[in-house]
Amino acid sequence: MIFTSAQELEKILGKKEDFLNDFSKEINDSLELKKSVKKFSLIFCDERIELQGTDITFLGNAIREHLKNCTHCYIFLATLGDKIDRLSDKLQLVDLSKAYILDTAANEIIERYCDEISNEIEKEELSKGNKVTLRFSPGYADLPLETQRQIIKVLGGEKMGVYLSDTLIMKPFKSVSAIIGVGKKAIKGSRDYCAVCKNNKSCDKRICK
Ligand code: SF4
Repeated sequence: MIFTSAQELEKILGKKEDFLNDFSKEINDSLELKKSVKKFSLIFCDERIELQGTDITFLGNAIREHLKNCTHCYIFLATLGDKIDRLSDKLQLVDLSKAYILDTAANEIIERYCDEISNEIEKEELSKGNKVTLRFSPGYADLPLETQRQIIKVLGGEKMGVYLSDTLIMKPFKSVSAIIGVGKKAIKGSRDYCAVCKNNKSCDKRICK
């Protein structure tokens, strides 16, 4: 279970208030957790990395560094669903402090959900003698945000109710797409992405910190 009680909400928010009991129930009732996970072989080309059997391509130096030594990767899509967005829209009109609490809690919940998915993948691969990388998402460093469009399509985002707006914002808002590399010598841990990132000449060095 991702999120169960007012006590959990208290931990996240660091505050104790009576209304949290009712509010945590309201948040839980609004959760519609969904995920889609697939594994692909990687094909390293000169300027890009392809995922075999799909039209997904990864561009940029940072993802190449991230997937160094990997032979495969998982892509996954996770969402808390649309009800949370609707609850947030409602609260923003009537109770801004509750809307803020919801946003904080929802960020924590989607993060925990992604951790759960990542841990399942790691457990599965460790049992086969493989290692995994950390998560890496489109929009991070010089991996284009547009990559989300191909990932959503391949993972059946439409069936999950996940889509991308014209401005590349994922809806529902609390949705995440991510890439996890796999290989006997995959490196777990973050790297100096700034050193290889194509944006490092113009970047104010804050985006990925
Ligand atoms: S902080 Fe800037 S230079 Fe560094 S990885 Fe992110 S986008 Fe690239």
